[in-house]
Amino acid sequence: MDKIEHIGIAVKNLEKSNQLFASLLGTAPYKIEEVALEGVKTSFFKTDSKKIELLEATNPESAIAKFITKKGEGIHHIAFAVDDIYSEIKRLQKEGFTVLNEVPKKGADNKLVVFLHPKSTNGVLIELCQEIN
Ligand code: ZN
Repeated sequence: MDKIEHIGIAVKNLEKSNQLFASLLGTAPYKIEEVALEGVKTSFFKTDSKKIELLEATNPESAIAKFITKKGEGIHHIAFAVDDIYSEIKRLQKEGFTVLNEVPKKGADNKLVVFLHPKSTNGVLIELCQEIN
């Protein structure tokens, strides 16, 4: 697990932040997607080989809304690409990491995702993601 897939940034207003990051990066988001189950609307930018994901809450109970209330806008998670998410979950649990959802969920950008609790990773929310074929 050594390949960063994307960095997720929590934002208050996706439309405004899309414009900001489009002028910052010189490219428009290639995808805008709502993940209703997570209460989040996302956009993705390609930068070199990695991606930037912007996340706006679509309801006040979502994890992104709570994050922004607590910490404000900013870097929310780092996502690593994995080939076998199920074996990585087992490996990381054995290493003592707290997996937030033991059953991978369908996330944005056609991925199966799980998150590690920041309390077990020095305060950084870590996402594992595997492309759905
Ligand atoms: Zn992500």
